[in-house]
Amino acid sequence: MRARIIHRDDVLKIVDLLRKDHEVLAPFRGRGRDSVFDIVTDENRDQIQIHIANPYHPPKRYVFPQIERIMKIRGGGGDPRVEPTYDGTRRAIFGIRSCDVAGIWHLDRFFLGRDFRDVYYERHRRGLFLVNVVCTDPTSDIDESCFCVCADTGPAARDHFDLQLMDLGGGEFMAVAGTPAGAALFADPIFKRGAAEQIARRRRILGEVRKQFKEATTSWFSATVRYVSQGKILDKTWEEIGVRCLECGGCTYVCPACTCFTVRDREVGAGEWERVRLWDACALGGFTRMAGGHNPRRAVHDRRNRRFFRKLAHYFIQRELSMACVGCGRCTEVCHGDIGMPSVVEMIRRATAQDDKIAPERPGAAEPKGQHGSAGD
Ligand code: SF4
Ligand code: SF4
Repeated sequence: MRARIIHRDDVLKIVDLLRKDHEVLAPFRGRGRDSVFDIVTDENRDQIQIHIANPYHPPKRYVFPQIERIMKIRGGGGDPRVEPTYDGTRRAIFGIRSCDVAGIWHLDRFFLGRDFRDVYYERHRRGLFLVNVVCTDPTSDIDESCFCVCADTGPAARDHFDLQLMDLGGGEFMAVAGTPAGAALFADPIFKRGAAEQIARRRRILGEVRKQFKEATTSWFSATVRYVSQGKILDKTWEEIGVRCLECGGCTYVCPACTCFTVRDREVGAGEWERVRLWDACALGGFTRMAGGHNPRRAVHDRRNRRFFRKLAHYFIQRELSMACVGCGRCTEVCHGDIGMPSVVEMIRRATAQDDKIAPERPGAAEPKGQHGSAGD
């Protein structure tokens, strides 16, 4: 990958370059802690934020909109005219965090990586340019719910971006090109050649940033993947998790890696209908209810367990080459029942820690023959 140095005062000029042939989205401050991705205009361009809490509403909506018309239907009387509708706007997302870059790559695998290619997703994705900003400021970029280090998606994305920016301090940013389109921007004189010292500084900063993540959130994640994959979590643990779910769907809607959707037809005028695709959630009973009314996952805890199986189980990791959790921590922030991913990992840690196979020795019991184990058995 090629890298260049850019001065802080020139960083927003990248947005100007991209605006020539893209609609550019970037992070802005909202009310209170809120932050939001919005379209960059001449009026708001100077309010773009580089260091800011990652918006709750993930940028996945630019490739997989919350509600999207996929076709128009006109006329009736046995002769309806069906017209697919596509949005082919060329977009660039400036300031996308590493976890969300991984989220989009996960969606790529889901919508485009198998036998069927989703043409609606493909149109959004085709012209998309991603400018990843590495989280380096512990006071604004990194929340206590973040665990990208554990999901191996951050703090610096290793691939799947076009351009990556990292604040090196002292008014300097390192720009790394992830694709030929990203490298093409280096033709602009705002990008200068760097020195070995800046690469060393980048490594040093990344080492320091990694220490900012809460150990308790992250240390049991891989064991949870194994327990979930092996089906070793007891029903009573899933029930404990399930009773805390209010079935609001919030965890799914803020998740950059969730893919559930449903399709509806609705009348929009005289003799005119449209077919829309909209986000759905496996947490909701209606999602699993089948024609005829039978619901194989009627109990909330069955749907909860399904969500975590879908996110972490080895079967899906093999199929999609990534977990369906990128460690953004948003589900923790929005869940009223405190059963976002880090909390569930912690509940599973506690439940499996109790599952200790070594029983207390009975006084006077003879040691079985041939069972002299060593510490390594
Ligand atoms: S955000 Fe929490 S309460 Fe809402 S559906 Fe998800 S797990 Fe349940
Ligand atoms: S499951 Fe939670 S932490 Fe993982 S990617 Fe989704 S919202 Fe983020």
